[in-house]
Amino acid sequence: MHRIDCPWCGTRDEAEFQYQGDATVVRPDPDASEEAFFRYVYLRENPKGWHTEWWHHVGGCRQWVKVVRNTLTHEIFATGRAQEDLPLPGTRAKPRRRTRPKQ
Ligand SMILES: [Zn+2]
Repeated sequence: MHRIDCPWCGTRDEAEFQYQGDATVVRPDPDASEEAFFRYVYLRENPKGWHTEWWHHVGGCRQWVKVVRNTLTHEIFATGRAQEDLPLPGTRAKPRRRTRPKQ
């Protein structure tokens, strides 16, 4: 069983979360082509290895959590809030792991 570090709740069981998709997709500019919007809405990569994803903490705070997860091993490298840029493993920047103080 895997556990996910929610930035708001702390470490919780994966069963409390739902996968919500690719967090690397960027909405095209309003004047972009129909083809660009088609790709934005319908086409997704199927990466093997590290990937940045959205997970929704449906069984907890109901916030969206950004997660860097290995699609082969399900290992989680980093989690963060939606606006955070989370590096992939092997990059120089350190991931911003959030831990909640023990209560
Ligand atoms: Zn939460």
